[in-house]
Amino acid sequence: MPESVPTVVVVGAGFGGITLVRRLHREPLRIVLVDQNNFHLFTPLLYEVGSALLDPSEIAYPTRAILRRYHNVEFRMAHIDAIDLAGRRLQTPEGTIPYDYLVIAAGSVTNFFGNAELATEAFGLKDLGDALALRNRVLAQFEQASWIQDESARRKLLSFVVVGGGPTGVEFAGALSELINLVLRKDFRELDVRQAQITLVEGAGSVLAGYHPSLQAAAARTLERKGIRLIFNAMVAGLRHGQVLLQDGRELEAGTVIWTAGVRGGDLGRQLGLPLGRGGRVPVEPTLQLAAHPEVFIIGDLAEVRQGGTLLPQVIPVAMQEAACVAFNLRALRRGEPLRPFRYRDPGSMATIGRNAGVVQLRGLRFSGFIGWVMWLVFHLLQVISLRNRLIVLINWAKDYFFYDRPVRLIARAAGPARSEPLPVGAGRPGPSPPPRS
Ligand SMILES: Cc1cc2nc3c(=O)[nH]c(=O)nc-3n(C[C@H](O)[C@H](O)[C@H](O)COP(=O)(O)OP(=O)(O)OC[C@H]3O[C@@H](n4cnc5c(N)ncnc54)[C@H](O)[C@@H]3O)c2cc1C
Repeated sequence: MPESVPTVVVVGAGFGGITLVRRLHREPLRIVLVDQNNFHLFTPLLYEVGSALLDPSEIAYPTRAILRRYHNVEFRMAHIDAIDLAGRRLQTPEGTIPYDYLVIAAGSVTNFFGNAELATEAFGLKDLGDALALRNRVLAQFEQASWIQDESARRKLLSFVVVGGGPTGVEFAGALSELINLVLRKDFRELDVRQAQITLVEGAGSVLAGYHPSLQAAAARTLERKGIRLIFNAMVAGLRHGQVLLQDGRELEAGTVIWTAGVRGGDLGRQLGLPLGRGGRVPVEPTLQLAAHPEVFIIGDLAEVRQGGTLLPQVIPVAMQEAACVAFNLRALRRGEPLRPFRYRDPGSMATIGRNAGVVQLRGLRFSGFIGWVMWLVFHLLQVISLRNRLIVLINWAKDYFFYDRPVRLIARAAGPARSEPLPVGAGRPGPSPPPRS
């Protein structure tokens, strides 16, 4: 690549970042993709790692393998600590990265709304570390319960409170119920797994906000059929001594709390030194540029974009369509042509609540039950990266469906680094993510 070619730095190898570099790989540009992880994560199946149905390698794919074919794209694994907008460079623990154009697709993080107790005690479900920590925790709770004679202590240990009735909370609650009632029931013969209780707490009056009321009702019915206690119109005030405290004064026993009640724009947004919008998202121009820095674009969960006055949701199609818009606008910017404002086309949404139960809404059409579930399965299977992963996911799903068996019921804890091995990138310095809890 000649020296005079402009450098585009893309932060984040998630849905926005990967879509963008795919769109730009034939352009006369030097593209540097930077991420704190060396993999691209397929978040829609993360709850299946947390519920012991899939292994991490089936939903995460090495970024360098994705980029192999793209000769103008380089990858660097690093956590971006700071952004110098005036000097056009990024600060990482390994050194600085200069850019001519910058696209920030750094996503979002779990929002505990400033509650320090929840942030340390509750389990999020946002990245691979979260999902593994959750899988370990669920399985460890059952192992521990099998040692305990006292019935009330055992019930407490086996009480799970999922906070948030969005797709992640609903899907995880459904999958956890099936793990316990169909699989762990056979593993833990010394335990009466019916003592386990899953409660889903939602601040609104129904699950799956944004879905048609008939689909919300179908999802709620399915969850109740699975024995999940639903508590609506209830806000969580905090956590104390293994109890979830609700704002209306109620207390819920909670051996494990799973927090899926919201996300906020990733911490990189704060580094820009600009006023932030709702949920820590960065307000951008209709062309997705920063108003004062037209060479900087923000896309995906981190960008605050409104259409017809409505804030766009933090979902994959928004991130991917914004990436396509930025690819067009980068080209236009270099050629001195007019830039295009972003227009979102909603392709619809879908969620599953466990075997034979899904809800789908697609351009005015609605499906639920078995048909919705099959549509969810086919769509998600096709989205998984690589043929190998698709086959393994299919085999795991089939094994679970026909034999009520989940293959990855391991409590696997990572050990510290071996003394003789070289330190990993960024080791010993401020790291990208906290160590997994177990
Ligand atoms: C459990 C779960 C399930 C979901 N299911 C669905 C679904 O079914 N359908 C749907 O449409 N959406 C779903 N979503 C939402 C979807 O994942 C996001 O909207 C989408 O990933 C946003 O894309 P993005 O490119 O903005 O960010 P991401 O895909 O999150 O990518 C951000 C990347 O930036 C990197 N990064 C962050 N900060 C830094 C830093 N400082 N330095 C270096 N790298 C950094 C991260 O490591 C990450 O790789 C789900 C989300 C979760 C958590």
